[in-house]
Amino acid sequence: MTAITAIEEVMIAATKSKIQPAKLLIGGQWTDASDGKTFDTVNPATGQVLTQLASANVADVDRAVAAARKAFDDPAGAWQKMSASDRAKILWRIADLIEQHIDEIAEIETLDNGKPIFESRYVDLPTVCEVFRYYAGWATKIHGETINSRPNAFTYTLREPLGVVAAIVPWNFPLLLASWKIAPALATGNVVIWKPASQTSLSAIRVGELMQEAGVPPGVVSILTGSGSVIGMALVKHPGVDKVAFTGSTSVGKDVMRNAADTVKRVTLELGGKSPNIVLADANLDEAVKGASTGIFYGKGEVCAAGSRLLVDRKIHDEFVGKLVERTKKLKPGDPLDPKTRLGAIVSEQQMNSVLGYIDAGKKEGAKLVAGGNRVSIDGGAGYFVEPTIFDAVDNNMKIAQEEIFGPVLATIPFDDIEQAVAIANQNIYGLAAAVWSNDVKKAHAVARGLKAGTVWINAYNLYDVALPFGGYKQSGFGRELGAEAINHYTETKSVWLQL
Ligand code: NAP
Ligand code: MG
Repeated sequence: MTAITAIEEVMIAATKSKIQPAKLLIGGQWTDASDGKTFDTVNPATGQVLTQLASANVADVDRAVAAARKAFDDPAGAWQKMSASDRAKILWRIADLIEQHIDEIAEIETLDNGKPIFESRYVDLPTVCEVFRYYAGWATKIHGETINSRPNAFTYTLREPLGVVAAIVPWNFPLLLASWKIAPALATGNVVIWKPASQTSLSAIRVGELMQEAGVPPGVVSILTGSGSVIGMALVKHPGVDKVAFTGSTSVGKDVMRNAADTVKRVTLELGGKSPNIVLADANLDEAVKGASTGIFYGKGEVCAAGSRLLVDRKIHDEFVGKLVERTKKLKPGDPLDPKTRLGAIVSEQQMNSVLGYIDAGKKEGAKLVAGGNRVSIDGGAGYFVEPTIFDAVDNNMKIAQEEIFGPVLATIPFDDIEQAVAIANQNIYGLAAAVWSNDVKKAHAVARGLKAGTVWINAYNLYDVALPFGGYKQSGFGRELGAEAINHYTETKSVWLQL
């Protein structure tokens, strides 16, 4: 089975319903699961099965780890012999190839995840290219130090790759969050086993083919599709895997940490969030309304950093919430493939039911529903669409204020002064992101200092830069992705002492 036929099958299946399974990528070969099992992937905008993917098992994990170890450990192998500058060229070529196929890959992402094509085509995919190019630049700039503290010794450090990295990725930004791991891992000379989320594995297969075309040697990137609790866990426990880079839920993240302990694996965790978006009375209200809306409704609210708790100064509360509700009523869920759509389909039926369950919980706890609240049907179809939903008069102790909903549901909490706002903001197990809106630069900085969060936006929301580290405080995880910080998470420091 050649690589090209593997993806042709996917595309034929996706577009013409000729069902054929997609393959695993192991040691440079596209292959079925060793027991031939497959699973369905669904288009959440229609509820229809798009195609099948190979369902890898523990034996396939062993095969992928063996191929990855060979690629990493063999001193005569292509990867070990390659210069940093040649690795950089490969990373750059990956970006070029993704860019050349951007429309096709964006469409696959949208079909599989339900996110608006506007987002996959103009945000996710261009950023993926930028991430590969950014880390292509880093490949040649990773070096140790000479430490000349002794007259009778030559002492220096080397920064060396860790080895085999398992990249375990969630479904909300399938390619983007994969690129945050794969690009720095390859730039630093590691090899990668990529485990996409079961709901959204299709784009990984297409990009896997492009990686081969870009010159990634066999075994340097493997792709295993299948159940997280089976193959994800097997990767985390495997003695042949050196590091797990995980993005996903806090509960699975805790399991990853526990299961990685036996082999003392390096672990970085990007987990959940319940990020506060704080509007002070002196803010530019129209800008803050726009920010509150994109903060929670961009990506259907399936964004780890979503501004899901809106904290509003009571002095401007009525005016602010009035404007936000008015804006929200104009935001309608729509066909994700329509370029005008700004709110897509929830990723799966299960996730939709979970979101609707939280909306019920909000009503039962006595929060005031001021916008949305229901599942909607687009053109009479069976897709998983939920209206953009806003609760007002929320108490920070309510379930909808404490738990991550991961959907288009906003909890609005009034406050009386800045100290109270910061206290409410920090009263949560998560600490991924936060924002503050104010025209008083001193107040804004004071609030930013007080917030326990890995990212704080001032007069903005949901802005990212590949050079700016991203990650969590508290139970939102540890380690940072992006920027120079990621390089440290994919290298070991070796001290060398030459006695003179
Ligand atoms: P999830 O259930 O934790 O799954 C994440 C990934 O882990 C998937 O590939 C999953 O595979 C795999 N997995 C499941 N069980 C596993 C296990 N026992 N051992 C190893 N791997 C396992 O999370 P999700 O529902 O896909 O994503 C939503 C969550 O991710 C949210 O809580 C969100 O906040 C978080 N998130 C965080 C960030 C961040 O940067 N902090 C970014 C995005 C999302 P299967 O798909 O096969 O189950
Ligand atoms: Mg899907």
